[in-house]
Amino acid sequence: MTNLAQTPLSERLRSLVDTVQHNERTLHRFQTVELRLIGAQDFPSFVDTLISHLPREFSLTGVTLWLDDRAPMLRELLEPAALQALDQPNLRTSREGGLAARGLCDDGRPWLGTLRELDDTVRRAFFGDAEAPASAILLPLAAGDTVSGYLWLGSDDPARFGQGMATDILERFASIVTASLDNVAHRERLKQLGMTDSLTGLANRRYFDERLREEVMRAVRYRMPVACLFIDIDSFKRINDTYGHQTGDRALAAVAACVRQQVRLGDTVARYGGEEFAALLQGDRADALIVAERVRLAVERLALQDDNGERIALTVSIGVAARMVSGTQAEAATLGSVIIEEADRAMYQAKRNGRNRIEALVNADGDCAAD
Ligand code: GH3
Ligand code: MG
Ligand code: MG
Repeated sequence: MTNLAQTPLSERLRSLVDTVQHNERTLHRFQTVELRLIGAQDFPSFVDTLISHLPREFSLTGVTLWLDDRAPMLRELLEPAALQALDQPNLRTSREGGLAARGLCDDGRPWLGTLRELDDTVRRAFFGDAEAPASAILLPLAAGDTVSGYLWLGSDDPARFGQGMATDILERFASIVTASLDNVAHRERLKQLGMTDSLTGLANRRYFDERLREEVMRAVRYRMPVACLFIDIDSFKRINDTYGHQTGDRALAAVAACVRQQVRLGDTVARYGGEEFAALLQGDRADALIVAERVRLAVERLALQDDNGERIALTVSIGVAARMVSGTQAEAATLGSVIIEEADRAMYQAKRNGRNRIEALVNADGDCAAD
């Protein structure tokens, strides 16, 4: 054992700095993977990020994902035909796998160790005939009490994963995997229901109006505010006229992705019309104004290029509507359209006041009751 007191201060500092830098690099690498997971447009790219990209990024021998094909959101994604089309041997759904994983992760904690310690049937449930990694961590993918799956990260170094090691970074990663899985399953569901816009991958107006109606009802019941943004690209006709319709389409998709990035995972963003987007946010008017400003700035900073590499300047005008709602549930059902109209009117105000700006109607912070 080294005696810390006898190690020169400079050496101790250096070792400390090394550790901090190493941790920072690790966190940064996790962030890259996490952004890909959060942004995954479809289930195959979500699975690919975990099974192909993650091991490369962290020099793992392999990643095996077990998912619960009985979970309502995952059922259709994991149907035999869908699994066959995916052709990912490291994506597993067998009942034995789930039972074995639950046994290892008792009280929902990760399991770490060498695979030699494990029963042959357990190894086979996850790694089949392929050689199992020397050591591994098994992370539950759980939100509250609901476990939707398990993730194995394996290494050929028997000492890489072992009992007593700190797992906080990996547990945090697992919670992001869980949230992203939920998000991508939701996205796939919308596609099946014809609720998405194919150009941008966002939800469409039909879905947005439905979500808004539900959200207003919820807001009435729990006395929470409802906040909405109406976002319109400035002078978009000119973009089409100058660069052509195809580049216009590319610009639309870029703005859509940009808006999506500025809101929370659970917020709803939709393509509401041609070059118009709507966002349904958690929070009150002050929160909505902050998000709106973030969106405005992010679009202004987008580095979109035309076919000759010239930067295409894009801006948006945003209308904000946020309010408390009251009334009976039946009355509340109609308030959604009032709120989105209000955001739309505020957006026109922003156009009149010079574009690339945000407006909220002056008298919009009062209560809104259906009468
Ligand atoms: P303003 O700042 O007042 O909003 O001006 P604007 O030019 O953006 O507004 P206007 O409503 O006059 O034009 C919207 C344009 O958006 C016209 C339409 O051709 C274009 N647009 C709508 N949908 C699409 C699409 O899917 N792809 C492309 N490339 N253009 C689209
Ligand atoms: Mg418009
Ligand atoms: Mg416009």
